Amino acid sequence: MNTDTLTMEEKKTGTELNISPVEEWPVFKKRPLIIAGPCSAENEEQVMTTAAALCASGRVDIFRAGIWKPRTRPGQFEGIGSPGLRWLRRVREEYGLPVAVEVATEKHVYEALKQGIDAVWIGARTSVNPFALNEIAAALRDSDVMVFVKNPVNPDLELWIGALERISNAGITRLAAVHRGFSTWEKCSFRNQPRWQIAVELRQRIPGIGLLCDPSHMGGDRAFIGDLSQKAMDLNYDGLMIESHFEPSTALSDRKQQLTPVELMKVLGSLVLRSPTSDDPEFLETIEDLRSQIDVYDNLLLDILESRMQVAETIGRYKKEHSITILQSSRWKEVKDNAVDKGVRKGLTPEFIHTILEAIHQESIAHQMKVMKEE
Ligand code: PEP
Ligand code: MN
Repeated sequence: MNTDTLTMEEKKTGTELNISPVEEWPVFKKRPLIIAGPCSAENEEQVMTTAAALCASGRVDIFRAGIWKPRTRPGQFEGIGSPGLRWLRRVREEYGLPVAVEVATEKHVYEALKQGIDAVWIGARTSVNPFALNEIAAALRDSDVMVFVKNPVNPDLELWIGALERISNAGITRLAAVHRGFSTWEKCSFRNQPRWQIAVELRQRIPGIGLLCDPSHMGGDRAFIGDLSQKAMDLNYDGLMIESHFEPSTALSDRKQQLTPVELMKVLGSLVLRSPTSDDPEFLETIEDLRSQIDVYDNLLLDILESRMQVAETIGRYKKEHSITILQSSRWKEVKDNAVDKGVRKGLTPEFIHTILEAIHQESIAHQMKVMKEE
């Protein structure tokens, strides 16, 4: 199905996929499911030492290590390739840990399956590409490996859904999404902008889809991993994929964002896990009351927006009568500056005020254009 041609309404409807819930997978012990291991498999000793420590913690469900590494610029370490699969097999045999690698081509899939790899993930640079997804899906067809699909590098929910659909259509039922953030040209303290609402909407669009967060690639710095993981838990994600290396300072890729196994256990140990719901009647009553207050404010916002657009239309008619252009930049700048000052005093962030005003302004222009076109 080509979702590019769908209307907004059609896009909002859910996609039914035949998915097995993460908590029913044999590897799942408790929430959050933990996938951990180095960014890249570098040598046998590094893989085995890291795996031994992660296994000893008893808290890791799947061991990860990249064998084929998609690097942004040529000349960087591009992975050890197929020989690394043997090291992963050793991890599985000696420590009993299921193992995962990244696949980006059908050849990667064939080699991984041949070596009995338990799980594969599709990286952000691959999930953007429907040709690659078709090829990978065909090579995976009807196998029983677990498949994790990272979000595409660009913030396009349809592409992410499309990638999951392609894998699901190949008969894969142990399928989950991994949210690792989106690249951005704008300055951002994280390596990839989280845009949490995209992942939240993914779960609404594909009911039952498992969702993990990868705070390592999202934050790009080990200092952010704890907070990002907590946020993911508060949004009720099923699991975490976190990079861990026995000696991050020597890592051949993503040095800044890897945690030692001991540091990883500290992060996991300090996570606060809240339950998504409760059956305590007092809690339910209070939350219902608070939610109805939110509904009242949301309705008020809509009424106010409606009134604002009516004024915009009146202005549009008036400008039309006097042959004045719709957009007057100086006026718009003044409106924005005033709103930011006022909003900040009310405890709102400047970014939020900008986003909301830009959206209102665009809608206002659309309303003014509409009346200008009227006969
Ligand atoms: C990785 O997991 O090592 C990786 C390359 O991730 P991403 O596709 O999220 O950049
Ligand atoms: Mn990495």
